[in-house]
Amino acid sequence: MDSNTELTKTISLEKYGIKTEKINYQLSPDALHDIAIEKGQGVEVNSGALAINTGKFTGRSPLDRFIVKDDITKDKVWWGDINIPFNSDDFDALYDKVVDYLGDKEVFVRDAYACADENYKLNIRVVNEYPWSNMFAYNMFLRPSDAELESFQEEWLVVNAPGFLANPAVDKTRQANFAILDFTRKIALIGGTGYTGEIKKGIFSALNFILPVFKNTLPMHCSANVGKNDDTAIFFGLSGTGKTTLSADPDRRLIGDDEHGWTNENTVFNFEGGCYAKVIDLSSEKEPEIYNAIKRGAILENVIIDDKGAVDFGDTSITQNTRVSYPIYHIENIQKPSIGRNPKNIFFLTADAFGVLPPISKLTPSQAAYHFISGYTAKVAGTEAGVKEPIPSFSACFGAPFMPLHPTKYAEMLSTKMKEAGVNVWLVNTGWTGGPYGVGSRIKLKYTRAMINAVLNGDLGLYNYDDYHIHSVFGVAQPRSCPGVPTEVLSPRTTWNDDEAYYKKAFTLSNAFRENFKQFESYASEEIRRGGPQRYAF
Ligand code: ATP
Ligand code: MN
Repeated sequence: MDSNTELTKTISLEKYGIKTEKINYQLSPDALHDIAIEKGQGVEVNSGALAINTGKFTGRSPLDRFIVKDDITKDKVWWGDINIPFNSDDFDALYDKVVDYLGDKEVFVRDAYACADENYKLNIRVVNEYPWSNMFAYNMFLRPSDAELESFQEEWLVVNAPGFLANPAVDKTRQANFAILDFTRKIALIGGTGYTGEIKKGIFSALNFILPVFKNTLPMHCSANVGKNDDTAIFFGLSGTGKTTLSADPDRRLIGDDEHGWTNENTVFNFEGGCYAKVIDLSSEKEPEIYNAIKRGAILENVIIDDKGAVDFGDTSITQNTRVSYPIYHIENIQKPSIGRNPKNIFFLTADAFGVLPPISKLTPSQAAYHFISGYTAKVAGTEAGVKEPIPSFSACFGAPFMPLHPTKYAEMLSTKMKEAGVNVWLVNTGWTGGPYGVGSRIKLKYTRAMINAVLNGDLGLYNYDDYHIHSVFGVAQPRSCPGVPTEVLSPRTTWNDDEAYYKKAFTLSNAFRENFKQFESYASEEIRRGGPQRYAF
């Protein structure tokens, strides 16, 4: 384990305006685990993992994510309700208040980096108010060696003060919590929220600007793994569609579960040093790799634990978004370092709650570009509110909340790279089958895995006309058979037992695609537009 236990270096935070002398620098995850428990901020569960509660926020708060509008960003960022501008002077004033707040506190400081490829390495210093947030930074960022630490020069600073509450009227925030990126000062300032995901997604958003703008490299919201023949596969998808779940495959080495870059040197590299998995309904039978990663060193968030230390993964009384973070070496089969060759296969994961998209289909290059810009998944209404119609949700590049540039910028880069690399692109519906949400059910994980394995083993070539069927609404190529999957599962229409209802829903979805695409129409080439669902299916 690379936890820098011998470290004797001390640091001062004065240059950042943080006056405190109670600095815990580069503590081992073991020490942080113990401190969190001593402070009453966490408990140890029976597998040895630390369990904490993130507080009021159990998920990110996209409406409180700002970017300072300055000379670097003003002409490049796609400003709007995703990338909300923040005034530079207001940032300065708020920053001063936050560091003042930390001035008399005990803080936890960690030096780490992002990007597993040396050429893209971004050194980060993280200052946390809480020990478990600092342990999260240990888990999720890459860990410098002792030698690297001796001469460590940070480039970006993350200041994370969950206990600091902004005053919106004075501080120009929307509410008490905020996550603000400043590209001139190279600071991610996070306050008023203890949700750890803000820390990793803050740096992700920064890289999603830095890499394409300054390094001509494509950042991607995807997971990645590599097979025995060094064949890389990547999995794009919005939250909950299966990036983390499907990339943890005992037969393939994990590169990473969420954030990657695709270079012009024909490689794919992980930005991170750990994984951040959803644990709702987690079981050792269905997801053994993730289940077994939940041991000492891992941090569970917002789960319910009984008095014997057993976790009830089915209990969503705090949130549906229960999580665990762990360093990547908690997974057995990993790629070292976290770099792979150009992908051979790209999967677009979507949890279609309408149950109309085929569980797997192959996309043409036009369709791939169209679906990437669209970034479709469905949001299912919370179970508390009763069974309601799912809402189609579109998020460009399968990660719009983290993409500072216009989506077409990333889409163009991806299209070029896909053509150069000659990849196959597959659309995988990890959502509903047999009817929409409320009628049908979520497709079995073992079937999704079997379909993906068939692709990766070359058993779903779709070379001959007889091997597939062209979907009459979406135009995608739907395989007629797949090893390990009952044939009827491959055709969504067949699973419904009601053609009329099926097509009605399919048209509802294809209309939603078209509505959403209108905002990109003027940017999109004829080729991309051709990749959309057909206007009149009959
Ligand atoms: P995030 O970006 O928020 O990290 P993610 O894409 O990594 O999201 P996962 O953490 O992999 O999403 O979540 C997928 C969830 O859906 C898991 O809880 C998994 O058990 C569940 N699931 C159920 N059926 C399937 C399926 N057929 N394929 C994939 N995941 C499934
Ligand atoms: Mn994930």
